[in-house]
Amino acid sequence: MIPVVVRNVVTEALGVVRIVLGSEDGSALPDFDAGAHIDLHLPSGLIRQYSLCRLQAESQYYEIAVLKDPQSRGGSAEVHRLSVGDSLTISEPKNHFPLMRGDRHSVLIAGGIGVTPLLPMAQTLQKTERSFEFHYCAKSPETAAFSSALEKASFADKMHFHFSQVTGAGRMDVVHVLSCHSNDSELYVCGPANFINDILMQAKMLGWPEERVHREFLRRQIWRLLPLKTLLLK
Ligand SMILES: Cc1cc2nc3c(=O)[nH]c(=O)nc-3n(C[C@H](O)[C@H](O)[C@H](O)COP(=O)(O)OP(=O)(O)OC[C@H]3O[C@@H](n4cnc5c(N)ncnc54)[C@H](O)[C@@H]3O)c2cc1C
Repeated sequence: MIPVVVRNVVTEALGVVRIVLGSEDGSALPDFDAGAHIDLHLPSGLIRQYSLCRLQAESQYYEIAVLKDPQSRGGSAEVHRLSVGDSLTISEPKNHFPLMRGDRHSVLIAGGIGVTPLLPMAQTLQKTERSFEFHYCAKSPETAAFSSALEKASFADKMHFHFSQVTGAGRMDVVHVLSCHSNDSELYVCGPANFINDILMQAKMLGWPEERVHREFLRRQIWRLLPLKTLLLK
């Protein structure tokens, strides 16, 4: 467990805050690779996972961005109440969503707050001069965390924004995006479960091999027990 202090709180988009966490004594925090997340232990005792949403500019800081879930049982709402100077503890970074090695083209697809693990991936791919494209789907620029930073990033030419509620912009053409690269690329998807599942289904139909399709669900899958009768009828 690592003790940290909230060093900054910034509104990144409607309902999204970015929290800068710093080590207590100014020492370096452990290194991490793009795709990593930490467990955040909140003052109430709740523990929630958050992706490290940018590579470290300075080694004593981590950044997370948190969407306030309207159905929250507490975690994201509590993060939104944090202020500068609050003390917390975090786990060491864990990574279940790493970038693959090799020179294949990468297709990054984010839905909403799913941008958080993909942003450091884009930074890493750019830094290592690997080929990629980054599709960011959201309702509007106002709800899309980091949209203005991404428009100005060194990889801005690789960004494709798909704003479903902006006239003239519209939803991403999933089939088109996935068809262009099914033979030679790695696919990384993060966002709400139904968004990820739609993309995985299309990728499967278009012949993407399972081992080149990578995803991270930002929520535990909740399986409700079906009545026995329903199961027997299947
Ligand atoms: C690896 C990882 C990385 C993540 N990174 C980020 C990130 O960068 N930014 C971010 O905002 N979030 C991220 N999350 C999600 C985050 O951990 C929290 O789940 C999120 O903030 C919601 O927490 P909460 O306590 O507010 O909501 P919760 O109370 O946990 O509820 C979340 C949702 O689940 C539903 N729900 C809860 N319990 C049940 C139940 N028993 N039955 C049915 N439905 C239920 C609620 O209605 C609600 O919509 C990540 C999750 C993982 C696993």
